[in-house]
Amino acid sequence: MERINNFINGEWLEPVGGTYLDVFEPATGKVYCEAASSGKEDVDLAVQAAKIAFPEWAETSKESRSEILHAIADGIEAELDQLAEYESRDNGKPIWLAHSVDIPRAMTNFRVFADAVMEFKGDTFSSEEFGENTIHLNPLGVVGCISPWNLPLYLFSWKIAPAIVTGNCVIGKPSELTPYTANELGRICKQAGLPDGVLNIIHGEGKFAGAAITEHPDIKAISFTGGTETGKAISKTAAPSFKKLSLELGGKNPNIIFADCDFEKMMETTLRSSFSNQGQICLCGSRILIEKPLFNSFKDEFIQRTKQLEVGDPKRDDSQLSAVVSEAHFNKIMKYIGLAKKEGGTILAGGTPAEINGRCENGWFIQPTIIEGLGVDCRTNQEEIFGPVVSLIPFESEAEAIGMANATDYGLSASIWTDDSEKAQRVAGKIDAGVIWLNCWMVRDLRTPFGGMKQSGLGREGGVEALRFFTEAKNVCIK
Ligand code: NAD
Repeated sequence: MERINNFINGEWLEPVGGTYLDVFEPATGKVYCEAASSGKEDVDLAVQAAKIAFPEWAETSKESRSEILHAIADGIEAELDQLAEYESRDNGKPIWLAHSVDIPRAMTNFRVFADAVMEFKGDTFSSEEFGENTIHLNPLGVVGCISPWNLPLYLFSWKIAPAIVTGNCVIGKPSELTPYTANELGRICKQAGLPDGVLNIIHGEGKFAGAAITEHPDIKAISFTGGTETGKAISKTAAPSFKKLSLELGGKNPNIIFADCDFEKMMETTLRSSFSNQGQICLCGSRILIEKPLFNSFKDEFIQRTKQLEVGDPKRDDSQLSAVVSEAHFNKIMKYIGLAKKEGGTILAGGTPAEINGRCENGWFIQPTIIEGLGVDCRTNQEEIFGPVVSLIPFESEAEAIGMANATDYGLSASIWTDDSEKAQRVAGKIDAGVIWLNCWMVRDLRTPFGGMKQSGLGREGGVEALRFFTEAKNVCIK
């Protein structure tokens, strides 16, 4: 069986402990390869390599670093078809989705930061009284980038690109559920001329490999995307060594739909924001708040279109949804559907596993599910399910909608649907979320700040925010 090893100092090394984890294909439920199960010793080796590579990489001009990032992007682009197949096999998402979203975005991540770094420099302040002040933005050293399974290469590269382009050396850890394209990225980076030791990739479980990264005294910062509970654990571990932290965590995002919206555009987009990637995008809207006069017509149309969604083999172009990532996640989602019923909710569509014949008969597929009849305070409407499950909730007034939207511990994103632009801006101003879309969803200019409020995270990624995170300001004053 194929084995994925750690990528350390430009070489593929077996884990020191010699053990491996099974990697499953979610669409078939079968193990198709193994990935290194790493621990502290592996992380130590990676940090040693990164520390040796750092001085030269930090001194490399930003023009040269930017060129290497563009070469990495070229490498991803050249292998788009193959990488999309790998991503789909690892994660369960349709190949067409990985081909049109995940892999192109990974490529764009490298291009965007390759360009952004060219404009990135510290301010200067000069005055008679306080002299000439020049702010240098220096790389931190060795940094950790830990990413989840839902958008594997997309989110892994979203961290790695700004980290290396600012002159840091990286210890990256993809999710143990989806290690495959991260491993391919190591090869592509090497081919693109990234010096050995600048990017090191450690595979393994969060509680061993991930914790060893967060604990390591020579790692200066952790950029993490994943669940809120993991984010809390990482904060506790990292605090005593004063590591810089960027935490992108869970969400329970509201879609606020006013009766005066463009119905067709809203309906088409709400279907996508509910069920894209099997609802496994942190930005998916899982609480759909609908103004009462529109509630019944929204509900009827939404049910009808949801029932028409094709759930099937990720290899098929007509599969709109495919498998969820793992058996454990499948069970978690099904448990939440059971909880919704216990809490008094009515299942309007889905609510059951999807039976797929042939190659995928043992895969982990769930019908897109709509729930109605639950108040905002119940667990179904408070906890992150992270699957193809949404809840419909009616509201009477703008104030009530805002109250409901803000009534969770999360604050990642929201979308607001109305033809009244003043109302849209007014409501946006009152929603506790880091990312708000008016009459659209998932439109991302990568130069804008990205991140959540409350328990959805700490800090912002994207554009200059990411470049600042991976650098430290030093003011040099002369008078
Ligand atoms: P997770 O927290 O279980 O794992 C994320 C990563 O952290 C994995 O690589 C895992 O191995 C590692 N990890 C686990 N425990 C660790 C520990 N103690 N120390 C260090 N690393 C550890 O999350 P997941 O299940 O992979 O991903 C789903 C979650 O990610 C959802 O909550 C989703 O909302 C969130 N997410 C957030 C964003 C965002 O931008 N805010 C984007 C995507 C996903």
